[in-house]
Amino acid sequence: MPFNEEQQKQMQAEQEQIRERIKQVKHRILVLSGKGGVGKSTVAANLAISLSLEGKKVGLLDIDIHGPSIPKILNLKGKAIQATGGVILPITMAENLKVMSIGFLLRTDNDAVIWRGPMKYQMIKQFLKDVDWGNLDFLIVDSPPGTGDEPLSIVQLLENADGAIIVTTPQEVALSDVRKCITFCEQLHLPVIGVLENMSGFVCPGCGQRTDIFKSGGGQQMAEQMKVPFLGRVPIDPQVVQACDSGRPYIQYYSSSQAAKAFKEAMAPLLKFN
Ligand code: ADP
Repeated sequence: MPFNEEQQKQMQAEQEQIRERIKQVKHRILVLSGKGGVGKSTVAANLAISLSLEGKKVGLLDIDIHGPSIPKILNLKGKAIQATGGVILPITMAENLKVMSIGFLLRTDNDAVIWRGPMKYQMIKQFLKDVDWGNLDFLIVDSPPGTGDEPLSIVQLLENADGAIIVTTPQEVALSDVRKCITFCEQLHLPVIGVLENMSGFVCPGCGQRTDIFKSGGGQQMAEQMKVPFLGRVPIDPQVVQACDSGRPYIQYYSSSQAAKAFKEAMAPLLKFN
């Protein structure tokens, strides 16, 4: 059904409000994945922390409506957010790290599952329009997985985002969805900053032997085929799970681990942004 004149005017006004809000953000980065469970939120959280530890002013926005896991990963579950005069204030985790998650607004973890498309769209729009980040170097957006309506809305509402980091695991079932994700970015003229292969091999802490549980190297091959940059491999590390479950930022607590180093390396292209 086409929008009437009034609706169109309102949409334009809202888009203008989003533009105004986002003007204070130098770089907007989306973290995407072809499917859920590949570590997208883990990557988004660790990238944001990593950038903030480098002295950048960072906002982490979690709009993964079906599984907002940032509050859990960063031990912010149950935090009340403040909203005054149509402005929502993000939670300040550290001097230069602010966080906002759709999870803060849901009463239960099951809330959003039953939402219809237009409600999700409204929620995403409200977040982009009303959250007052102040001046930021980077806004890292943890987007819902896949290439459906929700990631599409975000890319369109954000307008001219700097690019996307696409997270995958190495096995073929995950990779075929990533190819769709890259095509999605191309169609929307969203630059692909690179593909990060997560859960890539496991080194036994006891005997040191490496096992490629989900295979390894598939992400790199696929990135070469699709002519997009490859950001590296993050191995499986049980401490990532422990850190995520207990809300301790992995990259900070286990900074010398192989996975933490891989997360940091993946951030390198972002540090080159002016
Ligand atoms: P997504 O956002 O793609 O749904 P999550 O970031 O929530 O995925 O991660 C799913 C699960 O996988 C979490 O329990 C997380 O701790 C775990 N995980 C993510 N990356 C790794 C890794 N490199 N090693 C071990 N576990 C990981």
